[in-house]
Amino acid sequence: MCGIVGFTGLKPAAPILLQGLKRLEYRGYDSAGIAVFKDHKISIKKSEGRLKTLCELIDNGNGMDSTAGIGHTRWATHGKPSDVNAHPHKSQNGKFAVVHNGIIENYAALKNMLIEHGYTFVSETDTEVVAHLLQFNDDGDMLSTISKTIRQLEGSYALGILNADLPGDVYAVRCASPLLVGVADEGNMIASDIPAILPLTRK
Ligand code: GLU
Repeated sequence: MCGIVGFTGLKPAAPILLQGLKRLEYRGYDSAGIAVFKDHKISIKKSEGRLKTLCELIDNGNGMDSTAGIGHTRWATHGKPSDVNAHPHKSQNGKFAVVHNGIIENYAALKNMLIEHGYTFVSETDTEVVAHLLQFNDDGDMLSTISKTIRQLEGSYALGILNADLPGDVYAVRCASPLLVGVADEGNMIASDIPAILPLTRK
């Protein structure tokens, strides 16, 4: 179980997400990734290995001007460490992006159900079922969609979620995995541990 950060506010999110993930590095991880809004879509960048690799891949977030996003450092429980298994994961239609800490115990049953409904999986993770379930349960109301989705989940989770139709919004929900919210003048953050939010909230 590793690191989650999320930010929405008045400044570009990517550098804040990368800084937050850096401050969670002490927990150990095998891959890292972020998702931000871009041109009415969600842009996901992720990579196996050190956070440094991701930072180089996206030039430390320079030029990414979205002011909201989510980030993740992964400690693999389902599926090997790889670029594809790294978080964030997206729903089939690309509308939702998800980062997850924890384990979805009933992911195999949910995966079978979703495959029967025509969903295809690109990763080996338990997390990808959450992204597809959000699409499956999508009724146009984000809180209702998330509520329906988490009622189907068994296990432990802290989730950060983006919806491409709601740029600027970051959704978070947790069950038996840590997740906290930091509130500051320049914006609000979610994180799985305190160090990630301190630069923003401790003035
Ligand atoms: N179970 C998820 C995975 O294997 C999340 C692991 C984590 O908490 O980093 O991808």
